[in-house]
Amino acid sequence: MWQPLLALFTCFVLSVIDTPALADWVRIEEAVMGTRVSAEVWHEDKATAEAGVAAVFDEMRRIDALMSPYKPESELSRINANAAKGAMPIGDELAELIARSFEFSELTGGAFDITFASVGHMYNYREGVKPDEQAIDEALPAINYHHVILDREAGTIRFAREGVKIDLGGIAKGYAVERAIALLRERGIGHAYVSAGGDSRILGDRLGRPWVIGVRHPRQREKIVAKIPLQDEALSTSGDYERYFEEDGVRYHHILDPGTGKSVGEVRSVTILGPDATSTDALSTSVFVLGVEKGITLINRLDGFEAIVVDREGRLHYSSGLEQLR
Ligand code: ADP
Ligand code: MG
Repeated sequence: MWQPLLALFTCFVLSVIDTPALADWVRIEEAVMGTRVSAEVWHEDKATAEAGVAAVFDEMRRIDALMSPYKPESELSRINANAAKGAMPIGDELAELIARSFEFSELTGGAFDITFASVGHMYNYREGVKPDEQAIDEALPAINYHHVILDREAGTIRFAREGVKIDLGGIAKGYAVERAIALLRERGIGHAYVSAGGDSRILGDRLGRPWVIGVRHPRQREKIVAKIPLQDEALSTSGDYERYFEEDGVRYHHILDPGTGKSVGEVRSVTILGPDATSTDALSTSVFVLGVEKGITLINRLDGFEAIVVDREGRLHYSSGLEQLR
């Protein structure tokens, strides 16, 4: 229908790429936040589109400098290093995103929990490093978002015990995408696609046609399990194939069950559709932890959100609003 000329976009999504009518889209792809960030913007004045794309990348770098757990001077790293010693000041923006992450913790019965990092920081997926059972047992009690005491009025944060660490990896990329889209809007731009790794947001349409997004097969890189036409929508995918290593037949990947401190094994990938990328990001990680049944039940309860889950056997499961994809 759209004469799809498809190309692989980073690792999760597919999108229709340039056709002659779309030659005036400005498109840049660059590595930021440890992932591929891509922005495509259209405006009748091309200079406006170009300035918009530049603003997207500036914003991504700003958020990375604030929230990266890998940069020792980031605000998040300073909190991890000092908040167990006593209340310390925290900026509004970081406090707001932490508060949002707690809302997802409440919504998911603790499946989404940024203090997963209390154990998570001991894994290094690139180098095949994992904590042993004893190290996990010792650090596990520090996983609990209730240990993080955020005082919004005083503008402070404190950890109630030693060993607590936070990491916004399950929500920050979606937030960055959402912020980037807001900046484009402020500039009067109404047609854009911004993605950071597995988190994307579409603004408007592709000038009279929808964007077609493909959900990648979790084991066969070239295969697509679903193609969805979208406009004005956010989409996030969490997969066990992004950051992982295998040892003795066990796959150690970057999404941890806060109850065990270990990788969750029930599903291979989760894609969430919804109105904003901050929520779809947090929910894709959440549903990954919750598994097929609980995860889809949760999404069916939420207005405006849909899910596609690939389970351990490679079977597809859809939320109620997507049943027609079957
Ligand atoms: P990515 O886009 O990096 O693949 P996901 O949205 O799939 O990210 O989320 C995975 C990231 O979420 C991990 O790299 C980690 O930073 C964080 N994370 C892992 N487990 C949890 C959890 N139980 N709750 C909240 N965040 C988590
Ligand atoms: Mg996520």
